[in-house]
Amino acid sequence: MPELPEVETVRMGLAKWVTGRTIDTAEVLHPRAIRRHLPGDAHFAAVLADRTILDISRRGKYLWLPLDSGDAIIGHLGMSGQLLTQPADAPDEKHLRVRFTFTDGGPQLRFVDQRTFGGLSVSEGGAELPDEISHIARDPMDPLFDEEAFVARIRGRHTEVKRALLDQTLISGVGNIYADEALWRAKLHGTRPTDQLTRPAVKRLLGHVRDILGEAIVAGGTSFDELYVNVNGESGYFDRSLNAYGRESEPCHRCGAPIRREQFMNRSSFSCPRCQPRPRG
Ligand SMILES: [Zn+2]
Repeated sequence: MPELPEVETVRMGLAKWVTGRTIDTAEVLHPRAIRRHLPGDAHFAAVLADRTILDISRRGKYLWLPLDSGDAIIGHLGMSGQLLTQPADAPDEKHLRVRFTFTDGGPQLRFVDQRTFGGLSVSEGGAELPDEISHIARDPMDPLFDEEAFVARIRGRHTEVKRALLDQTLISGVGNIYADEALWRAKLHGTRPTDQLTRPAVKRLLGHVRDILGEAIVAGGTSFDELYVNVNGESGYFDRSLNAYGRESEPCHRCGAPIRREQFMNRSSFSCPRCQPRPRG
């Protein structure tokens, strides 16, 4: 499942290929891909024709493409969605859901999604920030992320630290993989209560989150899933530098103890039993 670094990699690729181009047609090949666009596919095509894409923006794992009409296209990749740029004469992908052609006749933008959990929609007047995603907190790579406010809010809550990292209204873009990696670096077990963390401990954890997301963006993301590929169809390689996630029973890179796997929020969590002891209680 794509996390922030993967979506950011896609954003950077799209920014290079589609910014400033004018949409000619928006063809929906599978209605499920635009199920969040309630007025339907004819309306989707009509409001996008002849519109110029001004930029590619991101909030958490959502992308939005501001248009010269003041509207925006919102995109979410779900489990397996891809936004690809392809030459106009490239054969259709098996799971091609939406195709954008451009007035310049250049490469098409294609939304390909095998499992169709992802999707596209048009946000009316959403060019600045679509209402649909305004509840999502900024991510820690965002220059306007408010670090002091985050530290105060997380310490003011009675919750578990991993649960807080995954809460998109508190901090966005940190999914299961990168939460486990940041907690390993910070030597914190995911069930540690946030109201018992010191300010320096929260700041250290946040620093690790930033480092990991930054490293993963440079590496082009992590791809456990063959379905996740970036805009050019290449996989990321951050998975080679993981210390906790997916390493059950393998030795901890710091102390040698076998990494343990536990169930948490219906997903697997990986941690070192020696470096990251469970809280007493
Ligand atoms: Zn260890």
